[in-house]
Amino acid sequence: MQRTAAATDTIVTCESITRRYEGHGGNTNTTVTALDGVTLAVPAGELVGVSGPSGSGKSTLLHLLAALDTPTDGTVHVAGENTTTLSDRERAHLRLTSIGIVFQRFHLLSGLSARANVALPLVELGMSKSERRTRAAELLDRVGLGDRVMHTPSELSGGEQQRVAIARALATDPDVVVADEPTGELDTETGRRILDLFTDAASDGAAVIVASHDQPTINHMNRTLHLRDGVRTDA
Ligand code: ADP
Repeated sequence: MQRTAAATDTIVTCESITRRYEGHGGNTNTTVTALDGVTLAVPAGELVGVSGPSGSGKSTLLHLLAALDTPTDGTVHVAGENTTTLSDRERAHLRLTSIGIVFQRFHLLSGLSARANVALPLVELGMSKSERRTRAAELLDRVGLGDRVMHTPSELSGGEQQRVAIARALATDPDVVVADEPTGELDTETGRRILDLFTDAASDGAAVIVASHDQPTINHMNRTLHLRDGVRTDA
């Protein structure tokens, strides 16, 4: 699969992004500013950690980087596309072709085997069945599930399901990998294996962004961006 950007490109750029959530607290309207004027750029090949206390805006930022959401103000560019100007359908296509997403709710399809779950994005990319099976089995092997390829999610532990989700996220060779606590449920050895996979993805030219409270995971990153109350405190 061909990447859309050369290894020296900036793959992710956020310019002064703000995300407000409008809420309704009793009789008064409440607005939460989850992110407030955050700027960042992530070049190809870089592993960037995101840390900060609960409620500091980490998930909000990851959703914006994964093109699952758009900012209230400011712009987000991912793999050459300005996500703020795309339609929902165009953003879905960008996610499919360019972004690997690992979030805590795994979103695996319960009726499908681990292999079929990993192969799913490859179906949409038009890859042949035999290529899909080979690719999915190879990815599952790399996350340590080579002997579980035909298990359905309910036959797998939480940590194993998480690894299936990671294999699926990496199956398309995405330009950007966005992960929220990817090693949270994993033992030390398996966590290290996943971090090595992220390093491989970065070596292949991906921009990898990982929110985590796990110190070994944060230590593995090239740099870490700290958030507090929706503001970067490391900049
Ligand atoms: P973190 O991931 O660091 O815990 P979040 O990005 O989830 O932080 O949340 C940042 C702030 O935005 C918090 O105050 C949270 O309550 C609020 N928030 C997050 N999502 C929503 C939402 N959908 N509606 C309203 N407020 C939200």
